[in-house]
Amino acid sequence: MLSARQIRKTYPTRSGGLSVLVDVSLELAAGESAAIMGPSGSGKSTLLNILGTLEPPSSGTLLIGDQEPLWLEGDALSRFRNRAIGFIFQDHHLLPQCSALENVLLPTLAGETDAAAPDRARDLLARVGLSERLDHRPAELSGGERQRVAIARALINKPRVLLADEPTGNLDRKTADTVAELLDELHAGSDFVMIVVTHSPALASRYVRRWELVDGRLAGG
Ligand code: ADP
Ligand code: MG
Repeated sequence: MLSARQIRKTYPTRSGGLSVLVDVSLELAAGESAAIMGPSGSGKSTLLNILGTLEPPSSGTLLIGDQEPLWLEGDALSRFRNRAIGFIFQDHHLLPQCSALENVLLPTLAGETDAAAPDRARDLLARVGLSERLDHRPAELSGGERQRVAIARALINKPRVLLADEPTGNLDRKTADTVAELLDELHAGSDFVMIVVTHSPALASRYVRRWELVDGRLAGG
C-alpha cells in the first residue's frame, strides 16, 4: 500500500553534500499506522515530505497504492498528491480569510467538480466535533480546533495515506491528547495508511509500529 525502498536524500550545501537519509525502507499495508521518532534535525520532515511526494529523494523507489509517483511530474504529480495524500503539519496551514468549512473544501477545488464535497466536509467537521464552528475563521478558533480543521481538510479527498508531521507539537498536553485520540478514531476502521512524526513518547506509544530515525536509517518498526 505504501512502500518505500532504499530512500536516500542528500542536500547539496556549500561545504559539500549533506546526507540526511542514507538508506530508508518501510512498508505499511492499507489500514496500518506507525510513528516515526528521532531527534531534531534527524530528517523526519525530509522523509515525510519524500513519502508525500512534496520532495524527490536522491534515489530510491516509492509505491503508493499501485502507483509509482516518482515517475510523475508537474500537474500529474500535483493531481496524484492532491487525491492520494493528506498532510497535517505542526502549524495548521489554514487560510486565514477562509471559514473552517471553506478551508476543509480547499483540496476539492482542484480538478473535476465534486458535488458531494460540501456534505463530506460537514460530515468530517462533525466527526472532529466542530459542527458549531463551520463559519469560524482560523483566528476565531482555539489551537486544538484549528488542528481539528486541518485534520478534516487532510481527509476530505479520502486519501490513501495520511502524513502528520508533529501534529500536536504546538498544543498543550491535554489538547494534544484529544487531537491524538481523534486521529486514532478517524483511522480506526478506515483503510488509509497513517504515519505520525513526533517528539512525544506519549504520542508514539499509541502506535504498535514505531521507528526511530537515527543516522539516516530507521530502527525498529
Ligand atoms: P527533522 O524534521 O527531523 O527535525 P529535517 O528533515 O527538517 O529534520 O532536516 C534534516 C536535516 O536536513 C537538517 O540538518 C536540515 O538542516 C537539513 N535540511 C532540511 N532541508 C534542507 C534543504 N532544503 N537544504 C539543505 N538542508 C536541508
Ligand atoms: Mg521536522
